[in-house]
Amino acid sequence: MAQRVAASDGGNKKTSRVRVAVRLRPYMSKQDEKSEGPCVRGLDSQNLEIINWRNATETVKYHFDVFHGEQTTQQEVFLSSVKPILPHILKGQNASVFAYGPTGAGKTHTMLGSSDQPGVIPRAVREVFNLVKAKDEDDGWDYSIGMSYLEIYNEKVLDLLLPSSQDLPIREDKDKNILIPGLTHTTISSFADFDKHFVPASLNRTTASTKLNQRSSRSHAILLIKVVRTEHALPHRQQTGKLYLVDLAGSEDNRRTGNQGIRLKESGAINLSLFTLSKVVDSLNSGTAIRVPYRDSKLTRLLQDSLGGSAHSVMITNIAPEYKYYFDTFSALNFAAKSKLIVNKPFTRETVAVPVLPVKRARDDHEAGGSGT
Ligand code: ADP
Ligand code: MG
Repeated sequence: MAQRVAASDGGNKKTSRVRVAVRLRPYMSKQDEKSEGPCVRGLDSQNLEIINWRNATETVKYHFDVFHGEQTTQQEVFLSSVKPILPHILKGQNASVFAYGPTGAGKTHTMLGSSDQPGVIPRAVREVFNLVKAKDEDDGWDYSIGMSYLEIYNEKVLDLLLPSSQDLPIREDKDKNILIPGLTHTTISSFADFDKHFVPASLNRTTASTKLNQRSSRSHAILLIKVVRTEHALPHRQQTGKLYLVDLAGSEDNRRTGNQGIRLKESGAINLSLFTLSKVVDSLNSGTAIRVPYRDSKLTRLLQDSLGGSAHSVMITNIAPEYKYYFDTFSALNFAAKSKLIVNKPFTRETVAVPVLPVKRARDDHEAGGSGT
């Protein structure tokens, strides 16, 4: 018997919907000291299941717009979740891409990646340049590309391109565009030019803190790519399209880790922004809310004109398969899911494919089921 727990997929096709993708990172034996194996596995391109801790003979099955399994490449994530929205930026429309999930689940890998495996940010920036280059003279518009890079830390807005700056205010103009007066905005002429500004600014983000991991997992890093196009003909109409690429703070529950003082204050602030974001995404996707609570946090206020409404938004929820992430995975899935279903059957370990298992001991644990390539 399958019992319906929640269903809110409701066939809501409004453009304000936030597309939700889930990406499961590969199992890492070093994250699994007790060698318990994974507790989550993909089922197909939209569904996954996780062991139900209340009753180990059951799994909970979740349904999303897209599920990216542990074998999914950076290129595949980009092609399916991000590339399709980029042409809109050249037409004066806004878009946002978020990486959500607990610290250690792959948000930065997804957004930034490495030089071997570049993530969404470098791929998206390259593609925006390619799209602009592909426009010919007959297009009738001139294009200019610019960037800003900021961080929201403790509900403070900080300019990563000008690290000495103080908390910046968020404003709305008469056309309901959200802007930050005083935030550095740099015109960029190529991908190399972008990198020249972006790389040192990324370092600003981490070296600003003594406990760099803590800080980067507690702040939201927000890259803005802006495309302004100006019509050749009179009256030289101008259109601006904004793309926000966001590596969110870790979604783990900081109250459980016994934080005190400044850390506790940070947790409260992070929880406020992420909590508000979840309320905003919920209201947009259920289509039932009277009010979308954008103004309740800095993050959602900043993204107000680029999340929901006529904007194109994608949330990539990153999860990790090891048991130590279990409760954070559960809460991330409950945030992201279109629906979930409790399924009365045991978690079938033998079909879990574990491709990345460098440690012998952990591999033995899974070989019993005859998988592992
Ligand atoms: P987060 O930013 O959510 O804290 P990271 O992106 O830093 O997480 O990922 C944690 C670790 O897992 C890093 O070492 C990262 O390289 C690795 N990792 C994350 N996702 C993947 C993936 N899909 N494939 C391979 N390695 C991954
Ligand atoms: Mg990170």
